[in-house]
Amino acid sequence: MTEPGKLRHQRMIGDRALRPESLMMSYGYDPSLSEGAVKCPLFLTSTFVFESAEDGKAFFELAYGLRERAPAEEPGLIYSRINNPDLEILEDRLTLWDGAESGLVFSSGMAAISTTLLTFLRPGDVVVHSEPVYGGTDFLLNRILPQFGIRHVGFPAADREAARRRIREAGSSARIGLVYVETPANPTNAMVDIEACAEAARALSGQEGGRPLVAVDNTFLGPLWQQPLRHGADLVLYSLTKYVGGHSDVIAGACLGAEQHVSPVRGMRTILGTMCDPHTGWLLMRSLETVKLRMTSQMKNARYVAEFLRDHPLIRSVHYLGFLPEHGPQREIYEGQCVAPGSTFSFEIDGGEEEAFRFLNRLELVKLAVSLGGTESLAEHPGTMTHSDIEPAERERMGITPGLVRLSVGIEAPQDLIADLEQALEVV
Ligand SMILES: *Cc1c(COP(=O)(O)O)cnc(C)c1O
Repeated sequence: MTEPGKLRHQRMIGDRALRPESLMMSYGYDPSLSEGAVKCPLFLTSTFVFESAEDGKAFFELAYGLRERAPAEEPGLIYSRINNPDLEILEDRLTLWDGAESGLVFSSGMAAISTTLLTFLRPGDVVVHSEPVYGGTDFLLNRILPQFGIRHVGFPAADREAARRRIREAGSSARIGLVYVETPANPTNAMVDIEACAEAARALSGQEGGRPLVAVDNTFLGPLWQQPLRHGADLVLYSLTKYVGGHSDVIAGACLGAEQHVSPVRGMRTILGTMCDPHTGWLLMRSLETVKLRMTSQMKNARYVAEFLRDHPLIRSVHYLGFLPEHGPQREIYEGQCVAPGSTFSFEIDGGEEEAFRFLNRLELVKLAVSLGGTESLAEHPGTMTHSDIEPAERERMGITPGLVRLSVGIEAPQDLIADLEQALEVV
């Protein structure tokens, strides 16, 4: 018989390390603790019964960091804002893809991002970040954090030298609280060199409180096609709403990394109350069982679709990572840090807003909606939708033109998707 603790965390058969996709159905869950149920039940409970007052005391000591955890001690369940089996098992499973030591799940991608930023930033600090970032993150950096005396400095996503320079310069005049990277950038798929950012951050070890951590929003290619912790990042952030959830039916987020860095974020999450709810956690465990299947199918479909669009006379350009020029820094970064080009990209229709709208309105199988990463294909118009609050000149500089359409490719038959795009392009 295997003891429960061992079974829960078994990742090896003999000396063979099991791959994440083999562990998504079982890892972190011990059926003997739940009447033998094969699947992890949904623990819809706000609070947990202690077997003794001494247990309650010991659980709180660990949860509030009042003492170190003993070698074989498991943190006990207390209250669902602090911990819950569905969330803990989900967190364990999420860490496997990114090779992280610890993980936390949140009620949204923005909850993960804002809780993490508030954990590491203090008045007077500066955040150095790639540009553009997700609209909600942009709002947090531009409108919310300045109210707390936190400034931000951006660098253009594709410019590796600018990233190094901005981190060095900002670090010479203020304390950098965090280096924040989103790669590839939305919607143009410009790549940020994670290793270059990590190196520049490490050079600031002399600053008060130690060098800044590097956090990477890995929503677009993760967890399958890019794993930032392997390239020097300290924390990986996710909107689980997108590829990990994958069915456009939940909102959730995550933060993963070494326990040393995740631990203060956990403390902040407990107090802000930004954790995920058990039902969403349970749905995400179901999603994780098929994340590799879905993302692989989407990735293959996206290539067919991108090739069709590239060869279409009414399409000016396709910002697909599979079409990067043979040589140059973007290709170098891509080869160094990505496994596959993913399945969300944008393309420019010959014309402006009117032509793009005619195309979008005519789509039948592809739905006109924001968000991405779900099983169904979605298209939207960044210029007037996801990126509409950016200054027009700035938008133009970022390559978000009036004819630009963003497409998230789903798991439909690729021939059907191409037929839909083809008929919609006829009205353009
Ligand atoms: C959607 C998204 C977010 C925000 O996630 P929510 O789950 O909607 O809060 C953050 N970053 C990126 C890159 C996203 O696409």
